[in-house]
Amino acid sequence: VKVRVDINRCEGTGYCEAINDHVFALTDQGVAEVLIPDDDTRLKACAADLREAESLCPTGAITVIGD
Ligand code: SF4
Repeated sequence: VKVRVDINRCEGTGYCEAINDHVFALTDQGVAEVLIPDDDTRLKACAADLREAESLCPTGAITVIGD
């Protein structure tokens, strides 16, 4: 599983961080970053959260790749 945040689309609402703050965090620049590396088993373990964040992000900035 891989997670991408398009920082050009992110508006810093923090919804993703509220869903799972082990995966997403807002930077000092006010955009979300992904804290866990690609294909780390911890991403697969919280796949439901990733999908929720992808669907709830109001700007469509989050893309989840793989399953
Ligand atoms: S939910 Fe979307 S817009 Fe909000 S901080 Fe996360 S990536 Fe950015």
